[in-house]
Amino acid sequence: MKITVIGTGYVGLVTTCGLASLGHQVWAVNRTPAKVRKLEKGQILFYEPGLGSLLKKNLKNRKIHFTTNFKEAINKGNFVFICVGTPPLADGRADLSAVKKVAKDITRYAKKPLMIINKSTVPVGTGRLVEKILAKNSHKFNIVSCPEFLSEGKAVKDFFHRDRIVVGADNKLVAQKVMNIFKKIKTVKMITDLETAELIKYSSNAFLATKISFINEIANFCELVGADVDEVAKGMGLDKRIAPYSLKAGIGYGGSCFPKDVKALKQMAAGNGYEFKLLKAVIKVNNLQRRLVIKKTKEILNNVKGKTITVLGLAFKNDTDDIRESAAIDIINWLNKLGAKVKVFDPKASKNAKKVLNSKIIFCSSPKEAAVKSQLLIIATEWSMFKQLKWPVIKKLMKKPNILDGKNLLDRKTLEKYGFNYVAMGK
Ligand code: NAD
Repeated sequence: MKITVIGTGYVGLVTTCGLASLGHQVWAVNRTPAKVRKLEKGQILFYEPGLGSLLKKNLKNRKIHFTTNFKEAINKGNFVFICVGTPPLADGRADLSAVKKVAKDITRYAKKPLMIINKSTVPVGTGRLVEKILAKNSHKFNIVSCPEFLSEGKAVKDFFHRDRIVVGADNKLVAQKVMNIFKKIKTVKMITDLETAELIKYSSNAFLATKISFINEIANFCELVGADVDEVAKGMGLDKRIAPYSLKAGIGYGGSCFPKDVKALKQMAAGNGYEFKLLKAVIKVNNLQRRLVIKKTKEILNNVKGKTITVLGLAFKNDTDDIRESAAIDIINWLNKLGAKVKVFDPKASKNAKKVLNSKIIFCSSPKEAAVKSQLLIIATEWSMFKQLKWPVIKKLMKKPNILDGKNLLDRKTLEKYGFNYVAMGK
């Protein structure tokens, strides 16, 4: 099939490469010529494991064509995937300006009827809004919602091995045609209506965020009663109704999706006259969990001012360079405000973090360099490389052997054996 993808970010580029690997011809639109030139050379614009090689393979097979030419691209085939950003507005609602701009451009340039498939996460009713905009073109368009559930860091795997594919449309035949694009992917395939598909995405992310805030509250309670949250989560997760996923206590959820989608769903509910009480609590718990790192830091160091503190990890999770809504960034900013000298290291996200962090923050090229003369080392991202560090060497470099493991990544017994004062979350 001939398919057009608008947007080449995390979702757009994974979709482009994934669809090409399924055998489709894909035209991917990015409006910036310099970015298109890079993509044409097989250079991806962010870090995502496995995506670079998939891109190169499909460029070689001539399955992917990058272009800045929106008009030409949308008229190549019958399917147009919208994969543009929907960042949060100041009040928490989703900013739909990119989606609307794409809809207006399709209205302007489409020379034939098209299936418009929305992969961006959008509030319920956005499909109808797009339909309204497109009504100004003389051709008939079918509006379809096909929400994306990939997780950064394992997005390529997630494309081919999904838990489900959801397609929502008014017309079941149209939905089936879109589902056929994914014929080669073996998974549960659910066809529903437009509004329901849009809400499935928000409900899924809000539920996962709720699980995280729930286990974080359990972690805080564990500390009061001497229980171990990892063991509690393990025991809970053995129950199939609960499942073991998203039950890792830590410094709260972050990233480009959970924080914005939870807030957007809360606002969406409010806009429809419904107060989503549970989500208010989920957001509050998440904010407090980040703050807890500062509280624990003060308990360990007494006074933060003038102390050297190392933060390992800047990305919101491992295996990505994405720092959007990363808890690490908030924590570093607070420590800096409190007068600490903050030294940081991340294997992939430093370039992005440099754009948002204060110039006083010291970026290091290795965990060892970041540990020199430090009085406290905080783990803020669960990169597997941090597990494999030579901790006795790190200890020698530090001024005081304090570790605050915000991700419960390390083994207490081992660290204590090496002489560290090891503080975790909920243990
Ligand atoms: P991103 O910021 O990485 O990429 C957005 C892309 O859209 C960029 O390439 C940008 O240039 C392009 N774009 C913006 N306006 C455009 C326009 N008018 N015309 C053409 N291109 C335009 O965002 P992302 O992380 O890929 O997310 C995209 C959507 O998918 C969001 O709604 C997000 O909530 C959703 N989503 C993201 C993830 C994730 O993990 N990143 C997972 C599932 C769903």
